[in-house]
Amino acid sequence: MSRFWSQVVRDLTPYVPGEQPKLANLIKLNTNENPFPPSPKVLAAIQGELGDDAARLRLYPDPNADLLKSAIAKTHGVTAQQIFVGNGSDEVLAHVFMALLKHDQPILFPDITYSFYPVYCGLYGVAHESVPLAEDFSINPADYRGRPNGGIIFPNPNAPTGRLLALDAIEQILQGNPDSVVVVDEAYVDFGGDSAISLVDRYDNLLVIHTLSKSRSLAGLRVGFAVGHPALIEALERVKNSFNSYPLDRLAIVGAVAAMEDAAYFEQCCQAVIATRDTLTGGLQALGFEVLPSAANFIFARHLQRDAAQLALALREKSIIVRHFKLPRIEQFLRITVGTDAECQALTAALTSIL
Ligand code: PMP
Repeated sequence: MSRFWSQVVRDLTPYVPGEQPKLANLIKLNTNENPFPPSPKVLAAIQGELGDDAARLRLYPDPNADLLKSAIAKTHGVTAQQIFVGNGSDEVLAHVFMALLKHDQPILFPDITYSFYPVYCGLYGVAHESVPLAEDFSINPADYRGRPNGGIIFPNPNAPTGRLLALDAIEQILQGNPDSVVVVDEAYVDFGGDSAISLVDRYDNLLVIHTLSKSRSLAGLRVGFAVGHPALIEALERVKNSFNSYPLDRLAIVGAVAAMEDAAYFEQCCQAVIATRDTLTGGLQALGFEVLPSAANFIFARHLQRDAAQLALALREKSIIVRHFKLPRIEQFLRITVGTDAECQALTAALTSIL
């Protein structure tokens, strides 16, 4: 390895995403995708943008994605100046780490949380401190009080636990940290939580992150956004314009607009996932699992007698993939994405034969 870059490579611990298998006949319940296809209007919009000859792909997209910002603003009752869009919420988060977090003080996040946060800390040279979750895996707002920090970030519902924090608890964190940006990553909020977007007009230190990957079935299109005070958004825009002025391509912009506008389809898919989640929870409990209350499109569960790693392997042998994390406190848990009813029935049938 060249002596010029080997040190940099050694110091980085990259994020390891969940497996994206190439085999088609697997039941894939490991990376929290939506089991339903995107709205048919998304495909129609993309086909319309391509036209007959795709000639428009010759031209750069709108660098500000104004159409998309307007569609998001309308859906969430905010202004376009309160919105930042990016190529998946992971990229939006990257801008947050570059633009908004103070690098002279540690940033805070839960000890069990989305594993990209420590990775970004490594990439951007930000110190961090993890704040232990309570015994029941919930976030305790009091733990975020009186601790000098360069910013606070957590998912709500948290990942991979699925546990939801109520809006009044989020307000306690905001009020206790008026000089820090508090980032609420709402990748899964549409499956059972109230969005903190309703608080952005009252707290100028709040930034809420959303993705179209989960509740809008568009993980493959890579679109995410942030909602917050225009000053926070302006900081993100400056980083973006110093980095990649055209983060969203033409097809992503029109597809995302169509997805945001199809409220009825969105609502129907979310309700279907929630109903299946409840049935799956009951099925797992009947098989001897302890299931954490989930407000997300996944379930976090441990079997009271059987080892989680072995269960994950046994399911894999039956062509079902779930996620197992070899991490302290949660190594006996499995994270299971809520699939279709048929997929979840196949999962419980497979577990019945394994147990
Ligand atoms: N935040 C959380 C909590 C997530 O689980 C994920 C998905 N892995 C993301 C952000 C990123 O989602 P995307 O980049 O697909 O928008």
